[in-house]
Amino acid sequence: MQHYLDRICAEHVDVSDGKLADYIPELASVDPNGFALSLSSADGFIYESGDAGLEFTIQSISKPLTYALALDQIGADAVDAKIGVEPSGEAFNEISVDRTTKMPKNPMINAGAIAAVSLIPAATPDKRFALIQDFYSTFAGRRLELDEQVYASEKASGSRNRAIGYMLQSFGVLDDDPNEVLDVYFRQCSLRVTSTDLAKIGATLARGGVNPQTGRRVADAAVVKRTLSVMVTCGMYDDAGDWVSAVGMPAKSGVGGGIVAVLPGELGIGVYSPLLDGKGNSVRGVRVCRSLSEQLGLHFLTVARHSRATLRAVYEPRAGICVYEAHGDLMFSGAEHVVRAADRQRERYEVAILDVSRVDDIDDAARELLSAMGSTLRGEGKAFYLVDPDGIVIRSEPELEVIRFHTVDDAVEEAQVWLDQNRRVSLD
Ligand code: GLU
Repeated sequence: MQHYLDRICAEHVDVSDGKLADYIPELASVDPNGFALSLSSADGFIYESGDAGLEFTIQSISKPLTYALALDQIGADAVDAKIGVEPSGEAFNEISVDRTTKMPKNPMINAGAIAAVSLIPAATPDKRFALIQDFYSTFAGRRLELDEQVYASEKASGSRNRAIGYMLQSFGVLDDDPNEVLDVYFRQCSLRVTSTDLAKIGATLARGGVNPQTGRRVADAAVVKRTLSVMVTCGMYDDAGDWVSAVGMPAKSGVGGGIVAVLPGELGIGVYSPLLDGKGNSVRGVRVCRSLSEQLGLHFLTVARHSRATLRAVYEPRAGICVYEAHGDLMFSGAEHVVRAADRQRERYEVAILDVSRVDDIDDAARELLSAMGSTLRGEGKAFYLVDPDGIVIRSEPELEVIRFHTVDDAVEEAQVWLDQNRRVSLD
């Protein structure tokens, strides 16, 4: 897995297209070469590549989270009375509302995001911000802090957002003082995150609202489902259509250079690279997500249904031999789960046997991970056998350099022979 991420980063290391956000000096002065990729599995295992510890401001990636908080606090009906869920096809900072409803078209454009802030019930702006900060922090599993300088700049230069605020007030969408609501909005945009925080936020959404690392429920499943739906249709500014067809994961980008992408039930991805395209999306971030989706088969309309249940059983038929029995559809994240289980337990065996006789389907990313597992084990002086009666993983043996058997019993017999020989060799 680590090789995969490093390879994908290496493929895109030379990308230098795009330009830094320059509406405030703090964003215009970041290192344009900053680059980080993090991935969290649905059970909270983190992989990182590049500058994964580098902090940047969350910016618009805050929008789905505040929307989720509003849904959580006041319920979908009250939120729907103020914010639509239709893609706008307009720029994120368009000063507009829906012609008929006179409401912001969706919560991912500034108008909808500012309205969402106003729906968080709190007596003062500070209390409202505290609720927001706590909520995001629970998603990330650590305390997220405010970047005071970015906040001050956002506030000093926020005329357009103020125009949006007053427009919303005039249409009866904002009940509170627009300046107070905007102050909280500027603060939420200025919270600092790393690519790993984004991956964890993504994994929490992927898990229906439970942070897989801390085990804490942050939001309920219905709230997350609604939030992810809006991310699918409106998450990538006005590039949502291209994104869904090419990448196929609910996502949100921010002008700070971050992107969070979610594969429901499977994983969360965080990418950082601050050079942006004309629409405000990270150029390299989009390309990395595209490669990840293509190479690992992550498009949400093609991915397997049962990968969480991929590992059906693990047992030790004889000392030094472990059998990993997989079932369902073995796609990338299911295979990652199997490989990680086998890796974690590798003190337990000399021979690992992977039984895929109950696997219905497999994709190339899973094949590649299993093959890498075989060569890693062989490199450590262990053996790796595959029970694959229908040839679902390997169509011809040399393809994966894996020895294939028709039954577990045959594999165990051969493993015993291998063990006896190797023990003799080590005794000699
Ligand atoms: N603070 C920015 C704004 O509201 C956020 C923009 C973004 O990330 O899209 O203009």
